[in-house]
Amino acid sequence: MKKQSAQKKSAHHVSLNYFPMKKGRLFVGDKPLEQVVAMVGQTPLYIYDRQLITERMTSLREILPEKIQLHYAMKANPMPAVVQHLASLVDGLDVASQGEMLTAINAGMPPGNISFAGPGKTDAELKAAIAAQIVLNVESENELRRIDAFGKALGLTPDIALRVNPDFELKSSGMKMSGGAKQFGIDAELLPELLTRLAEFSVHFVGFHIFSGSQNLNSEALMDVHNKTFELAAQLSESVQGDFGQINIGGGFGIPYFPGDKVLDLQPVAENLQRLLTAYPQFKDKEIIIELGRYLVGEAGIYVSKVIDKKDSRGQNYLITDGGLHHHLSNSGNFGQVIRKNYPVRISQRKESSVLENTTVVGPLCTPLDTLANKMDLPKAEIGDLVVILQSGAYGKSASPEHFLGHPAVKELLL
Ligand SMILES: *Cc1c(COP(=O)(O)O)cnc(C)c1O
Repeated sequence: MKKQSAQKKSAHHVSLNYFPMKKGRLFVGDKPLEQVVAMVGQTPLYIYDRQLITERMTSLREILPEKIQLHYAMKANPMPAVVQHLASLVDGLDVASQGEMLTAINAGMPPGNISFAGPGKTDAELKAAIAAQIVLNVESENELRRIDAFGKALGLTPDIALRVNPDFELKSSGMKMSGGAKQFGIDAELLPELLTRLAEFSVHFVGFHIFSGSQNLNSEALMDVHNKTFELAAQLSESVQGDFGQINIGGGFGIPYFPGDKVLDLQPVAENLQRLLTAYPQFKDKEIIIELGRYLVGEAGIYVSKVIDKKDSRGQNYLITDGGLHHHLSNSGNFGQVIRKNYPVRISQRKESSVLENTTVVGPLCTPLDTLANKMDLPKAEIGDLVVILQSGAYGKSASPEHFLGHPAVKELLL
């Protein structure tokens, strides 16, 4: 019985049907894509669906233990309207620059629920964050000294969390950000000694930030890292003099991008978190935070470009579109991927065709790296049809070299 309901819950997370096709046309909510494009009056563009973001948050809250607080890591998609929408749904925002900090504040998030991580915070950024009274995730002892000095100069006591570089890593992750030598955080083994000296700094210690990695689809790997993270937090908390309020246990929930990628099954992850919360009664009055970027927005967005030309080169069919890696670097395979694989692609057609054609879709840039889809079987497309890249709500516009070759900027629309 229990098992069945677990499966039902997981079904919430089955992806790729968010932008349905009807008679050869893709729909955004109840509107055909062509109508949405007409609203903006140009391609290329990103379209994000507010409802899908809301649904994702609702199903996460349903699955995860109630005690878990959810933060949005803004670097996944810093579009102000997206941040504003998420600000009303999450418990906090994580920022990685002063620019993101201002967007978070403008979105109405209370400063105490904004945290700022990043290994190279400038003096200006530290002062701004202290003045804004947000939480600084401290990445080195040097940084702590600078925060102490700027706090005194401003007559404020900065809220700080210590970012920990654990001696373990998040296995089978798209991007590993812990374990071994890393530029992020303070090595875990140095922290007990630093914690005994923390009272020498004029700061208010709010807790620990332990982020291990990104883009993970493996429940076992996440459970393993949560077990280790709770254990480490318990060890470290023994060296804390006085009380503290929160433990940020990182995130790393991934979304399926490529053929063969399996949707992350959160049910066992949630059950394991519940078990850990019971096993560590010392954290009963602490906020336990999970910070997520792409999991909240990645599947709620598409990238749309228009077919400009079509040609055959020595037996390979090419579609050439007005969009490319200058707007969507991660789809081109050049944002941390080892081997380029195809994101899911749809063709939204003016005249429906059920004929499939093996097609390579490229952008307008003068580099072979500018590939949107490589040798995929797609419905036969014509000039003027729209090419849609799914799973594009995260690490799109802001993670791309928009000025490369001087083409026009991409537009964004949140519906
Ligand atoms: C990038 C980042 C995230 C978000 O990662 P996603 O894969 O988008 O979920 C969260 N926390 C920190 C510290 C990060 O650097």
